[in-house]
Formats: sequence, structure tokens, C-alpha cells
Amino acid sequence: MSSLTGWGRTQPSIATVVTPANEHDVLDILARATKGVIARGLGRSYGDAAQVAGGTVIDGLGLGGIGPIDEATGEVTVGAGTSLDALLSISVPKGWFIAVSPGTRQVTVGGAIAADVHGKNHHRDGAFCEHVRSLRLVTPTGAMTVGPTDEPDVFWGTAGAMGLTGIVTEATLRLLPIETDRLVVDTDRCRDLDALMAAMATGDEDHRYSVAWVDCMATGARLGRAVLTRGNHACRVDLDATAQLREPAPSRSGLLRVPWVAPKGLLNRVSIRAFNEAWFRRAPRHRRDELVSLGAFFHPLDFVTDWNLLYGPRGVVQYQLAVPDTGGDTVRRAIELLATSGVPSFLAVLKRFGPSDPGFLSFPIEGWTLALDMPVGPAQLPGVLDRLDELVVADGGRVYLAKDARLDPRHLPAMYPRLDELASLRARLDPRGVLTSDLARRLGV
Ligand SMILES: Cc1cc2nc3c(=O)[nH]c(=O)nc-3n(C[C@H](O)[C@H](O)[C@H](O)COP(=O)(O)OP(=O)(O)OC[C@H]3O[C@@H](n4cnc5c(N)ncnc54)[C@H](O)[C@@H]3O)c2cc1C
Repeated sequence: MSSLTGWGRTQPSIATVVTPANEHDVLDILARATKGVIARGLGRSYGDAAQVAGGTVIDGLGLGGIGPIDEATGEVTVGAGTSLDALLSISVPKGWFIAVSPGTRQVTVGGAIAADVHGKNHHRDGAFCEHVRSLRLVTPTGAMTVGPTDEPDVFWGTAGAMGLTGIVTEATLRLLPIETDRLVVDTDRCRDLDALMAAMATGDEDHRYSVAWVDCMATGARLGRAVLTRGNHACRVDLDATAQLREPAPSRSGLLRVPWVAPKGLLNRVSIRAFNEAWFRRAPRHRRDELVSLGAFFHPLDFVTDWNLLYGPRGVVQYQLAVPDTGGDTVRRAIELLATSGVPSFLAVLKRFGPSDPGFLSFPIEGWTLALDMPVGPAQLPGVLDRLDELVVADGGRVYLAKDARLDPRHLPAMYPRLDELASLRARLDPRGVLTSDLARRLGV
């Protein structure tokens, strides 16, 4: 029996953890299970999606392996327990990058499919599963290979369904060709939210990647001030002739390590406000064509192993919302609520989403997404989060289940209107109802 938690703030959940080496082992575990089974990758979802109290957690890390990369198509077949870090360390020197990268490389391919993760390029390239050609899914009724055109309901039912349709054991991904391991990046300081959203609405199309870091503690005329960074992969002509493709730094273990859990109260309104201020002032007002490494642009947090310990013993709540593009009112009201609530919040991340994919429970919807990081502690925090939920639901939006640990289940059907389709699919693939998680139980999925 092992105790597992999410990356942010979740209660420990005691379960039996098993590490299958292949599909047959997974079939066997599912056939014998009676009390609930869920897959787990690298545990980077912030909440309780990859834990199941009293049941069996399938540690997917044994399902590894990286096949050859097809030089013509960029297709590669990998075990679902392969981390994006391991894949990139092989693919980048050969001139291939992952088509969609979340903010950390320390996630598995299985976890990326289960959350249908998005990156800084959703406005251009969509979510992770739009670049999956096929996957192997093991369910309590058997194993199957599915793809966007081969059993599409099972494929799109699995994309974003947080492991609730089965265990992904293998996937064939389409990679993105790159000429160098650098990006050409533009940085702009935006004085307030209007300036930021206008810049993103007009200029994002010229950049494959776009992300804004918003100071959610600034108020008044500075509300929503932000630093916007946008980039494209650098071509050989952008670099000097000697530049080589290399594995992106940092290495798997990160370069710095937080050695202890920070004392309670280290992160408070004063310290976080000071950090946000210093960070905003340090950023250049306008900088063009800076060459930045893949690691620094996509995965800056990976440079610091165990950075979440900085939040102290009570941990962090991540809250990520997506709302349709109806003028940005909800984003403004969410930032206003936070800025005036007394809840300290680190730099928030604002991105634009392009059209949704057909994933039944996939998170992105066309419009805006805002991700907030808040240390657990302030008495107002639960009320602020409930108020955020109400704003999001009223605007036809949703919260990201990969980051959730506390959503009121009454909001779920409005946020995810295709729950019934998922329920029918699960009844077909898993008639005994073996697959479940603490998240599914909490939200009544
Ligand atoms: C620093 C940081 C930055 C992040 N940035 C982003 C971002 O930019 N965009 C984004 O979309 N997400 C982001 N995330 C969230 C993260 O990408 C997702 O939570 C992802 O699912 C984590 O993958 P994992 O391998 O750690 O899976 P886990 O956290 O272990 O599990 C997540 C879900 O995947 C399921 N799962 C895992 N393996 C399998 C499998 N083999 N078969 C079926 N289901 C499986 C689990 O059951 C669970 O429901 C970030 C997380 C962190 C910590």
C-alpha cells in the first residue's frame, strides 16, 4: 500500500500501487480488480485525478519504450509511460519537437493524452490529442487500437477523460520538424489588461507560441499588467552556421533543487507582491528577436526540482479557467476579484485558445484561459474560488480537471456538457465500473 498525492494540495490517498510491464499485465490487473483502478503517470496533475483511495493505482512508468522516428512523417510510437523529457532528449537532436508541450516536460505521454494537454500554441495547433495518430487502450473488456478515424468515439472519449475510459499503453505521435534548438522570441511589457488583450488578439497569429504572465496583485490603472512573450522556432538562418541541435537543457533532474518544505507563511501578500513587482520591472519594455533555448522558453520551472515545496506545508492551489471569447469580461472580473480579495497570487498565465477538438472532456474552448497559483492558507481562499466558479459557469466556461481538487460537483454538467456521452462509452468499455479515481468520486463522474 502506498500514499499518493497530487502536485498541488490534495489529501494523501492510500492505495495499492502496481507497475505493469506490458499490456497483458494491465489486462490481468483490470480483470481481477474489484475496488477501483486508475492509471498514474508522473503525478503532475495538481489534484486527485491520479489517485484512488482503497483501490489500485496502475503506475504507468513501466510502460516505456521509444520507437524509431520516421524521418519522412515525424511519427514515433512510444510507451505511454514515456516522459516528454525522455522523448525530447532523443527527438530534438534529430530535428523533431513535440507538437504540443505543457509547461513541464515531467509528464508522461499517457498523462498528456488523459488530460489532452495544451501548450502556448493552442491558438495555432490545438491540443495534444490532435497530434496523436493512434493509441492502444486497455479496458476491462479488452484492448484496442483507436485513432481519430478508427473507433473515433473511443479515441475522443479518451482524450481529456482523465484515465476513466482505460489505460493507454502506447501511442503514435506526430512530431514537429525543427531546424534548431532555439526560439526567436519577442517580449512586451503591457501596462494593463486592455493593452495585453488587444496585443494578443491582434498579434498572436504571427507567432506559433504566445503566453502572458499577469500580475494579479496590481490594482487600479495597473490592473492586469503583464509581460507578453511570443515566439517561433528559429531557423538555421537565424543562428550562426556552427549552431547544432542539442538535447534541451535542463537535464532530467533539473539544475536546482528546493531542499526543504518552506516554512508556513513565507509566501504571503507582502512577499508575493514584492516578487511580482520586481519581476515586472526586470522585464524589457519591448525586446525583439531574442534567441532563447527550448528549455528556457517552454519549461522554465523544470530548472528547479521540487519548486512546489516553496509553497510550504499547506501547498498550492492551481485554478485554471477557460472562457469563450466574449470580450474578455470574465477574465477581467476574475483578475479584479483576485487583486482585491486579499488572496495572494503569483504571476498568472493568460493564453488564447483556438477551436476545441472533439474530446468529450477536453478542457480547451475557443477563447481565453487563465491559470492562477495561490498558496493555501488565507481564510478568504475557498470563497474566492467558489466565486470564480460562478463567474466561469455564467460565461459558459469551465475549469481544468487536471488542476482541480475542490470544484463543486453541481457545476460540472454545465462546464462539461458531454458527460452523458462519456458515461455511455464507459458503460460499454467498463460495465463493472472498475475504472474510477478520487476525482471521479468527488465530482460524481
Ligand atoms: C509545472 C506544471 C506545468 C503544467 N503546465 C501545463 C500546461 O501548460 N498545459 C496543460 O495542459 N497542463 C499542464 N500541467 C498539467 C499536466 O500537464 C497534466 O496534469 C498531465 O496530465 C500530467 O501528466 P502525468 O504524467 O504527470 O499524469 P498524472 O498526473 O500522473 O495523471 C494525470 C491523469 O492522467 C491519467 N493517466 C496517466 N497515465 C495514464 C495512462 N497511461 N493511461 C490512461 N490515463 C493515464 C491519470 O489517471 C490522471 O487522470 C502542468 C503541470 C505542472 C506541474
